[in-house]
Amino acid sequence: MDPARSSSRRQFVRAVAAGGFIAPTLLRPGHVSGTEPSTVNAATNPDTSRGEVLRTDGELLDSGSLLEAARRIPVAGHTDVLVVGGGPAGIGAALGAAKAGASVRLIETAGCLGGIWTAGLLTKIIDGQNKPGLMKDLLRTLAQRGGDVAKQTRGEVYDPEICKLVLEEWCGEAGIKLHYHTRVAAAVTDGRNRIAAVLTESKSGRQAWTAERFIDCSGDGDLAAHAGCRFDVGVGDQCECQPMSMIALLTGLDPAKVPEFIRESGPEAKPRLLQLMRSAGIDPSYNMPTLRHLHSGIFSLMTNHEYGVPATDAEQVTRATIRARGEIHRIVETLRKLGEPWDALAVVATAEQIGVREGRRIHGRYTITGEDIVKGMRHPDAVCQARFGFDVHNLFDDGSNPDLVRRFRSAGSKPYDIPLPALIAADVDGLLMAGRCISGDFIAHSSYRVTGNSVPMGEAAGQAAAVSLIRDVLPHELSWRDVQETISQPS
Ligand SMILES: Cc1cc2nc3c(=O)[nH]c(=O)nc-3n(C[C@H](O)[C@H](O)[C@H](O)COP(=O)(O)OP(=O)(O)OC[C@H]3O[C@@H](n4cnc5c(N)ncnc54)[C@H](O)[C@@H]3O)c2cc1C
Repeated sequence: MDPARSSSRRQFVRAVAAGGFIAPTLLRPGHVSGTEPSTVNAATNPDTSRGEVLRTDGELLDSGSLLEAARRIPVAGHTDVLVVGGGPAGIGAALGAAKAGASVRLIETAGCLGGIWTAGLLTKIIDGQNKPGLMKDLLRTLAQRGGDVAKQTRGEVYDPEICKLVLEEWCGEAGIKLHYHTRVAAAVTDGRNRIAAVLTESKSGRQAWTAERFIDCSGDGDLAAHAGCRFDVGVGDQCECQPMSMIALLTGLDPAKVPEFIRESGPEAKPRLLQLMRSAGIDPSYNMPTLRHLHSGIFSLMTNHEYGVPATDAEQVTRATIRARGEIHRIVETLRKLGEPWDALAVVATAEQIGVREGRRIHGRYTITGEDIVKGMRHPDAVCQARFGFDVHNLFDDGSNPDLVRRFRSAGSKPYDIPLPALIAADVDGLLMAGRCISGDFIAHSSYRVTGNSVPMGEAAGQAAAVSLIRDVLPHELSWRDVQETISQPS
């Protein structure tokens, strides 16, 4: 967007967005009281650059819990829009809102942007080629700045390091305030049924941030859950979720000597690699091993499944991460013993973040269902069209899936619309979602979650958040046409 236009729109948004900080009296009793807490730390605004901390008090109770004393948390900043999570959806949301003129803050736990694309070392964008806007720009840029493989695949197979760099450049140019190594740990709602502030934890301690609109792009729906939204997890009584997978970068292999094992050579590459692994005595936890050549001598490998791990249980995720990393190294060591051309195979890096396919699905104002995808649902508020089919990785380690999955696979899928109301929280006003935590059922999630859909969802959520401020309405009061008309108006 033209910077002059963007800046004048920003002034416009500022002018119309009745803003500032939300008065403490609006906070809902029971969440935060407006009265003075009995125990308040003296240092309420620690100078974190000098290493000062905001101390906490508390009492260990016999019941095996700790009663933490109330304390004042510094409100560290205010923006028009606050985005939680800087993965494919969060990038879309932050850039969508910023280009529509809003001031934007993005809070991310990792030390880079991109989520599964970068911290998760994914290397492949699915369902992105039919999308306009940011997704199109990103594929073009990844192809232009990437190596031969990125060019041949029109940016679909990309170098995660280039992706990190491009996303930081774009967010920098758009004036987005980035906070890495920072986790959203709580949210406070107010008497208007909106989020008054989010609370983060980082090396700067516990901080509060206010905004006019919030967008949950955390993948697992952390913000919406903390704000009290209803949600679903997995399928069935046990909330079974798709397995997690750790991805790794490898080197020491000549692509010209192993073309038949490289995924981009065709679908037979996966069973061939499995057969090779089995001949070496390897039985990988994921039996469709995926080897991609990225550039020069660098490859990515996905051959791990961690079953039955809830994304919201840090201890179980830790154990899965350690198991997965160990499996990858054992597989590489064993493949090396096959001799030429595998004898120099080595792990460059395993992902810092194990790949999480499923977390919470937040209830929205529309819920995309598996039946919608079978029928090829059309919606007047479509923000994009998804074409990727059902992709449920086996839920159980014996290779099985619930009957439901077989039923939908045999019914088949048609291109379908992702509607704006599926990105708008049902239970808290002014809160939007994008990416894998939007409103959908277990089966639909297996399709819309891919990154080629997460980016346009994010971009749409960001634009809707900004336009709702320009028009001084709540996001659920907008049609997608309203959003597009406002965005395309010269300012
Ligand atoms: C192993 C695996 C393979 C896949 N293969 C493909 C593929 O080939 N192609 C494809 O297009 N898609 C693929 N997918 C699906 C796709 O990657 C995800 O569904 C997609 O990443 C969803 O994007 P997202 O932005 O919603 O979530 P994520 O990429 O998970 O991003 C969420 C971000 O939020 C941050 N975050 C989380 N909680 C907090 C918090 N409380 N505070 C602050 N920040 C937080 C995380 O650090 C992360 O950066 C795969 C997924 C997995 C797991």
